Amino acid sequence: MVKKTELMKEFEEETDQHAVWGGKVTKAFKEWKKERRLKKLVICPWCGKRVKNYTTHQCSRRRRWKG
Ligand SMILES: [Zn+2]
Repeated sequence: MVKKTELMKEFEEETDQHAVWGGKVTKAFKEWKKERRLKKLVICPWCGKRVKNYTTHQCSRRRRWKG
């Protein structure tokens, strides 16, 4: 059995797909992880999520976000 990591939980929340299925890591998750690395995502200082650009992402915890 594969233990679910924080990243896997994040993937499932973000995509509504399973990161682990039948005791195995899914292809969808692997692809997503690879893509994520290529995009050089950064961690948002407000919400802690990995985002492309935390100054422009619509952060739920950043109060000054507008439009
Ligand atoms: Zn954020």
